[in-house]
Amino acid sequence: MASIPFSNLVQQYKEIQEEIDEGIRGVISNANFIGGKTLAKFETEFAKWCGTKFAIGTSSGTTALHLALLACGVGTGNEVITSPFTFIATAEAITHCGAKPVFCDIDLSTYNLDPAKIEAAITRRTKAILPVHLYGLPCDMDALMEIARKHNLMVIEDAAQAHGAQCKGRRVGTFGDAAAFSFYPGKNLGAYGDAGAIVTDDEQIAGGCRMLRNHGRREKYVHETVGFNFRMDAIQAAILSAKLPHLKEWVARRQHIARIYEQEITTPAVIKPVRPHLCFPAYHLYVIRAPWRDGLASYLGQRGIATGIHYPVPLHLQPAYGRLGYKRSDFPYAERAASEVLSLPIYPELTDEQVRLIAQTVNEFFSTALPNKKGERLYAAPRS
Ligand SMILES: *Cc1c(COP(=O)(O)O)cnc(C)c1O
Repeated sequence: MASIPFSNLVQQYKEIQEEIDEGIRGVISNANFIGGKTLAKFETEFAKWCGTKFAIGTSSGTTALHLALLACGVGTGNEVITSPFTFIATAEAITHCGAKPVFCDIDLSTYNLDPAKIEAAITRRTKAILPVHLYGLPCDMDALMEIARKHNLMVIEDAAQAHGAQCKGRRVGTFGDAAAFSFYPGKNLGAYGDAGAIVTDDEQIAGGCRMLRNHGRREKYVHETVGFNFRMDAIQAAILSAKLPHLKEWVARRQHIARIYEQEITTPAVIKPVRPHLCFPAYHLYVIRAPWRDGLASYLGQRGIATGIHYPVPLHLQPAYGRLGYKRSDFPYAERAASEVLSLPIYPELTDEQVRLIAQTVNEFFSTALPNKKGERLYAAPRS
């Protein structure tokens, strides 16, 4: 039987062990564990990679979002428009600024915020839009930026899943006023612990993030404002610097795997990811939509193929956000996606043969689970 995990970071480490070990040893031998030259070096490299003027390393993707929102002026009493179909960190960052997340439904074909629904959600209190490039698929940034400019709103991109995604020749993270990346270990570029970064072209936003991440100080002993300890460890920066030169190739490999899935998943029961014109998604996740999602997941699981669900409960239905007063059927597309999406394994270390096997197993489930021409059902799919 196959044994295909959902990610394989052990294999990745084996392939780049010398570079990683050298980076870690460097930090330990100079004993500059917080910030310093190692962090400044990674920040310069990552800004260059994204195509922005500045990058500011943080303790996680969540704290990067939090600081980016604060530095863009989001505060108590403001509203920020975002997607209900994302990881909870997106909305938590808004809440922790004292602002209120206002959800807008997604486009069911891209799983991203539907720009056509945003204007109806704008009020006097709206300060910003927080689009999420979910699964690594770029949002429709032209449409979003047009709305933002018209209503004088800030735009902060949640690019936590989208390192290396491009649209119209630009990398995501360069469209809005600022963008937040996560280097959670399983992300397209992952640290060996928690880490994140903000990227921006705006010197004031960059300076604000730098100050806030380090106890509100620009110089030692002078705290201009009450800040946070949201700094990135130098060891994580060294690991990220060692990995960054591989990122382009890793993203290309994810795109190659996505092409194999696209060709080899042939069952009409499955809806595969779209690729908008001039967009090159980063495929942090390869997410299909299918009836009997839970039956398909257990069928794959029984055959040694790990899968995931991103995400089974949209944020407006999470207990944590009950007080916002949303109810079921407020965002029908987000709710439908939550009940139908399934993430198949996708990471650079996966072999072409493994990808083909996964695709075949998906096809096989539907050819046996769905009635054939004679009306015979060979596999009784549990109801999802
Ligand atoms: C991972 C993730 C985050 C949070 O990043 P952490 O580094 O885990 O704090 C935020 N938004 C999205 C969409 C994510 O996938």
